[in-house]
Amino acid sequence: MSADLKMLESIQNTQSISREELGAILQTQDSFLIQELHKKAQQTATQIYGNKIYIRGLIEFTNYCKNNCYYCGIRCANAKADRYRLTTEQILSCCKTGWNLGFRTFVLQGGEDPYYTDVKICQIVQEIKSKYPDCAVTLSIGEKSEESYQAYFNAGADRYLLRHETADEEHYRKLHPQQMSLNNRKNCLKVLKKIGYQTGCGFMVGSPGQTVDTLYQDLLFIKELKPEMVGIGPFIPHKDTPFADQPAGTLDLTLRLLSIIRLIHPHVLLPATTALGTIDPKGREKGILAGGNVVMPNLSPVNVRDKYKLYDNKICTGDEAAECKACMAARMKSIGYEVVTDRGDQFCLMIRNQLTLNVGRNQ
Ligand code: SAH
Repeated sequence: MSADLKMLESIQNTQSISREELGAILQTQDSFLIQELHKKAQQTATQIYGNKIYIRGLIEFTNYCKNNCYYCGIRCANAKADRYRLTTEQILSCCKTGWNLGFRTFVLQGGEDPYYTDVKICQIVQEIKSKYPDCAVTLSIGEKSEESYQAYFNAGADRYLLRHETADEEHYRKLHPQQMSLNNRKNCLKVLKKIGYQTGCGFMVGSPGQTVDTLYQDLLFIKELKPEMVGIGPFIPHKDTPFADQPAGTLDLTLRLLSIIRLIHPHVLLPATTALGTIDPKGREKGILAGGNVVMPNLSPVNVRDKYKLYDNKICTGDEAAECKACMAARMKSIGYEVVTDRGDQFCLMIRNQLTLNVGRNQ
């Protein structure tokens, strides 16, 4: 076996990667090695999750944001963004459509919008959980206090997505204004885990200033946090942001990183993101074949889809939820996978829940 293949085996066996190995994998031009990397990652995912793909119904409920991240199209300084908020009724209507289509996870994502007070968020979560008790609710609404996170959890929220964006202090400063802090973001993630959320961190691939070293920090952070989910997708410039002229992250680099994350953190729930589908027409299929096991079709009302623009050229903005679901199911089928009607918990939690249920039944 060549030294390179031995390196892949060692990453897989030890579930860890050194700075040198990361550099070698990210920089190699050896397409055979990269094929082997993807194959190993895909095998790792199918050993745990079979050919099942979990779907999450994404509801983008507000594009108001008090933050001003340099990369993001809904940053507060973007006066050209056409702002909107969904009412509780509109959100519930998205859930209804989604439930009928087989979604058992709803992801409520938005900018950091103070209009949605903790009381409002808790009401929305409670209503969804009471109408759809068999569903998981994921929140992705940014940095909040421990009390707020606890209140949402008590209201029934199951999961929380908060990409750390970069684990490197200097790089973080290039992407965010002075008021924001990496320390706070990392601390939020630790608090979320402590409260008991299934927690997701993540980062954009190819964001301005990203290097092998900053990516290595990201991987170390993942190993330390042990999140249930990791969201990564290519950075894509938005025309009305300070990064308008920066190059997008590449498909190739994103796929390599998806595979590496699968190998070093095997049980993770790893989406092939919309951004990946935006930079390549078969991006999401390729993401699954590189080790992903989750996709997140859009359930937002069609009239707001185009307004939730974090980056340019976002796909699927004109499709109804049913079309998105059918399209996704067909895409996954075309590569030998099956979209399932399931909450899609992380494997270890799934086993624990089943054991608890069985114990309950025997009593
Ligand atoms: N306000 C929430 C949700 C942010 S939007 C929060 O703070 O977590 C979700 C993710 O989209 C962000 O975490 C970021 O990683 C990604 N994103 C933002 N702008 C992007 C861009 N221009 N290209 C690709 N991804 C982007």
